[in-house]
Amino acid sequence: MDCCNQKPIIELTAGEKLCKSHFNDYFETKVFKTIRQFELLDKEEHLGIALSGGKDSLTVLNLLNNLSKQNPKIKISAIAIDEGIHDYRDKTLKTAKEFCDQISIKLNIYSYKKEFGLTLDEMLKILNVKPCTICGIFRRYLLNKKSRELKFTKIATGHNLDDECQSIMMNQMKNNIGASARLGPKVGIVKDEKFIQRIKPLYLCTEKEVTTYAFINGLLDNFTECPNVSRSYRAQIRDMLNQMENKFPGTKYSIVNSFLQTLPMLKEKFKHESIKACVKCKEPSSKDVCNACHYVEKLKIVCEK
Ligand code: SF4
Ligand code: ZN
Repeated sequence: MDCCNQKPIIELTAGEKLCKSHFNDYFETKVFKTIRQFELLDKEEHLGIALSGGKDSLTVLNLLNNLSKQNPKIKISAIAIDEGIHDYRDKTLKTAKEFCDQISIKLNIYSYKKEFGLTLDEMLKILNVKPCTICGIFRRYLLNKKSRELKFTKIATGHNLDDECQSIMMNQMKNNIGASARLGPKVGIVKDEKFIQRIKPLYLCTEKEVTTYAFINGLLDNFTECPNVSRSYRAQIRDMLNQMENKFPGTKYSIVNSFLQTLPMLKEKFKHESIKACVKCKEPSSKDVCNACHYVEKLKIVCEK
């Protein structure tokens, strides 16, 4: 069913076809409703937008920047992590910098090379680990630590409904329910002053919707994917979910909606998880030595051999 006499640009999961203007209204309303429904923002914030230069994070930055213009108590900055992935991150960071310049937002960039001594590409030549495992550990570590130093009140990420759906399924299939308890539009279970709350304003937007929004609003003009994606477990889950969604439209919504109903119970079950300070770096950790320090040590040992 078409929304008006303008040319439709997208067909939603429920079958409705929307023109550019109606789709923009639909998408922006959905994001701001998500923010209200899950109480993602307080009255006063200094938000750090975790920017990769991809469609999701550019969309979050664009929307929250518009919100901050209407509400001076919401301050926006951007933070990006340069993992050092040749022919990929350099390109997306260029897009990120250009967009931040265009809308006059300060972009803070931190690199693995400067913070840990090696780029991700160099680490992967030394250690026999899955790229996304080590990459994710170092990225979350730097994002949290640097956001705290920058005095951000929250970190807004570009995670969309597809990402969340993949995480839920991955945790189910790896019997890692404790990790699922940390999911949701507001990340984490235990409050700790060293943890900066992460929020996901695109939580209920599908990948297709975010991609469409980014392209029709000129936030992005090309699509680049990390060369390591194909080696990840997540990519296989993504393909499986896309197949199911094609056969049974609405599958991803159903997974996330049913997960949201069980999430309060999961958070309750795991709320007594204790947070310690890593004995090496003093950053918050569930173990004596945090995962980032564990891998930094491993890299040192192999390099010294
Ligand atoms: Fe890092 Fe994996 Fe994401 Fe590439 S796909 S940026 S290796 S987490
Ligand atoms: Zn540590």
